[in-house]
Amino acid sequence: MAKLGSDLAGKAALVTGGGSGIGLAICRALAEHGVRVAVADLDAQAAEKAAGSLSPAGMAVSLDVRLRASVEAGFAAALAALGGLDMLVANAGVSTMNRAVDLTDEEWDHNFDVNARGVFLTNQAAARYFLREGRRGVICNTASLAAKVGAPLLAHYSASKFAVLGWTQALARELAPHGIRVNAVCPGFVRTSMQEREVAWEAKLRGMEPEQVRREYVAQTPLSRIEEPEDIAGLVVFLLSDAARFMTGQGINVTGGVYMG
Ligand code: NAD
Repeated sequence: MAKLGSDLAGKAALVTGGGSGIGLAICRALAEHGVRVAVADLDAQAAEKAAGSLSPAGMAVSLDVRLRASVEAGFAAALAALGGLDMLVANAGVSTMNRAVDLTDEEWDHNFDVNARGVFLTNQAAARYFLREGRRGVICNTASLAAKVGAPLLAHYSASKFAVLGWTQALARELAPHGIRVNAVCPGFVRTSMQEREVAWEAKLRGMEPEQVRREYVAQTPLSRIEEPEDIAGLVVFLLSDAARFMTGQGINVTGGVYMG
């Protein structure tokens, strides 16, 4: 039997939010499997640095997933440089934390613009390209544990991530007749800059020390540690590969057992 992920060698992928955290770990894992990677990020410097650190080196794409024109320009640049595209990882995301009763319009819009609209625009750009070219492309979206269970202080974020799973299922059904698969991953408490910000916000909102918040994360995790970005990257490689050829429309939990539904 072929080694898992060996079919990915020589293919091309665009990863949004690839400049840091989970996205960067995904870019590294894909490059290790011989994938030519376009590292797409709002933070152009982070994208350049990440792309340069990959082996083989990736290409950097400066793109804002909230804006159709920016997404279209970013995809055009990646397509031209990579000579086509086989996979999209729509991973860029943001969070803010607040009690639902105190949430502002701006917080709601910010989370939905990046997390939900960003997935819509990037998935649509990839789907249009795959259909136009008759490619059996693959899409993997980064949802969240908060897409499976409502997360306190993250009601707006949770709602935007539930939207990602609804979109993923519907798109998977529409594209299945064309041999295009669409799945999502649902990470738990992952050690990234997003988590650093969330720990500080949560500690302040609940009148706790940041270390207490982290201890609570671990206490909720049956596998008993903070999740690392690499824990998700392996699952994404699997979902993009031929080993997952009969999987579509799924939102796979990778949380150390925090959520078992
Ligand atoms: P991160 O903040 O480390 O990385 C997010 C990346 O997305 C950054 O490089 C940022 O510049 C980029 N980005 C933000 N807005 C963008 C935009 N408009 N256009 C393009 N790029 C943009 O966060 P992370 O923890 O690595 O998060 C990655 C994904 O994983 C997000 O979708 C997040 O919601 C999800 N997630 C994270 C956790 C966690 O605990 N860290 C848990 C579940 C899900």
